[in-house]
Amino acid sequence: MSALSFDVIFVGSGPGGYVGAIRAAQLGLKTAIVEKDKTFGGTCLNVGCIPSKALLESSELFSMAQHDFSNHGVKLQQVQLDLAAMLGRKDKIVKDLTQGISFLFKKNKIEAFRGVGKIIKAGTVEVTADDGTKTSLQAKSIICATGSVVTELPFLKFDEKRIVSSTGALSLESVPKKMIVVGGGVIGLELGSVWARLGAEVTVIEFADRLCPVMDKGVMSVLQRSLTKQGMKFMFSTKVTASKVEKNEVTLEFEDMKSNLKGTISADVVLVATGRKPFSSGLGLEELGVQMDKMGRVLVDDHFQTNVPGIYAIGDLIPGPMLAHKAEEEGVAVVEMLAGGAGHVNYGTVPSVIYTFPEVASVGLTEEQAKEQGIPYAVGSFPFAANGRAKALGFTDGHVKILADTRSDKIIGGHIVGPRASELLGEIIVAMEFGGSSEDLARTFHAHPTLNEVVREAALAVDKRARQA
Ligand SMILES: Cc1cc2nc3c(=O)[nH]c(=O)nc-3n(C[C@H](O)[C@H](O)[C@H](O)COP(=O)(O)OP(=O)(O)OC[C@H]3O[C@@H](n4cnc5c(N)ncnc54)[C@H](O)[C@@H]3O)c2cc1C
Repeated sequence: MSALSFDVIFVGSGPGGYVGAIRAAQLGLKTAIVEKDKTFGGTCLNVGCIPSKALLESSELFSMAQHDFSNHGVKLQQVQLDLAAMLGRKDKIVKDLTQGISFLFKKNKIEAFRGVGKIIKAGTVEVTADDGTKTSLQAKSIICATGSVVTELPFLKFDEKRIVSSTGALSLESVPKKMIVVGGGVIGLELGSVWARLGAEVTVIEFADRLCPVMDKGVMSVLQRSLTKQGMKFMFSTKVTASKVEKNEVTLEFEDMKSNLKGTISADVVLVATGRKPFSSGLGLEELGVQMDKMGRVLVDDHFQTNVPGIYAIGDLIPGPMLAHKAEEEGVAVVEMLAGGAGHVNYGTVPSVIYTFPEVASVGLTEEQAKEQGIPYAVGSFPFAANGRAKALGFTDGHVKILADTRSDKIIGGHIVGPRASELLGEIIVAMEFGGSSEDLARTFHAHPTLNEVVREAALAVDKRARQA
């Protein structure tokens, strides 16, 4: 066994690990990273954010070519799907980006080790490579960034052909005729949208009585209406209780929780998207007595340190939203603190996005949350239908809603459903980060004609001064 010494070791090379490692190296810390998979980048780059967005873009173009180009006077004789090419494009994007991370590690002089990392004791990580070779790494600070994995339901075991996880749903070899999505959360809606656009008849079964209950109610009802227009069907307050897999079909038994009525529904593919759970198997945390909650999330203090000194954790492994940008910010903050700086994550401005069509993007408090917290607020809302650029694009569904605290006019929330909502949210996040008011946004130049003008009009509408409606 060879011993190698570092200032900091990251275990896991997802967005938390690789972004944190780069920041550590920039700060002059001697940095190592351990990854068990063949490629770097974790869930996000390999089987999450990036491949799903690649397929969402391609399937949206396919759908637009079929349904929307003619509105612009562009006539196509025939629109055909080349699924293999679409999946190949997605795989190429993933390959380019994961290889890019190897390059970034070299450029920043980060030593990368392939193999399963196990913390033997505070200060020591043992890496076991595929061929069984063991390497011992030493560091004062070890940062666990081992992320999360999909949750399986006991009666819906993944075979990744008929019953698929999000990973299987990124690589189906043909378009299913019928697809059932169990779970109407972000991943279910995004991947359900992909296959619906490509021609599958998609039914979403959701336990709650509406889509994504933590998101703004009005925004989610616009999205549901739009997805329904696109052909997706929804069953709410419904619990799947059993499944039967046959050669070409899966049949699910379900129960309507309001009426207690039971029924069955069949499809050729079932996507189970009921959530993800933290992953720390084989990392050695239990043996070391690292505290976790009932859901398997590692508990950390304000400095991301566990109850065992020298062992830290970030990203999907710890409480908070399971999002790539949250993991990244935590990776940066923890090493800035280790280097003697003042790392900080502002959890009040973590954006949430659903990359459907229209997109949904949200930051800060919803009206329901502001009420619960007793914060007096004013609402400004403005529709895309009244915006020149949205009309030119032909995408007029949706609106921007801004909430401001009436005592200070400080922005406390932004909720967008509409075209490019994910990009438009950026200026609201920046305004909130700087403690900005709706008046600040309302008085800021916005190029004309742009979709961003809808954000400005919503800010003006907080004080009932919107002009374009
Ligand atoms: C389909 C899908 C779509 C998504 N879309 C988005 C999106 O659009 N935007 C967004 O913000 N988030 C999205 N997410 C969530 C996002 O992928 C995660 O929040 C993010 O990847 C978490 O980062 P992380 O660094 O904590 O962990 P991960 O990305 O999960 O990385 C953990 C890494 O640790 C490695 N590892 C685990 N154990 C060990 C060990 N013992 N030794 C060595 N290596 C180990 C794993 O192999 C993995 O590479 C999506 C997720 C899915 C599944």
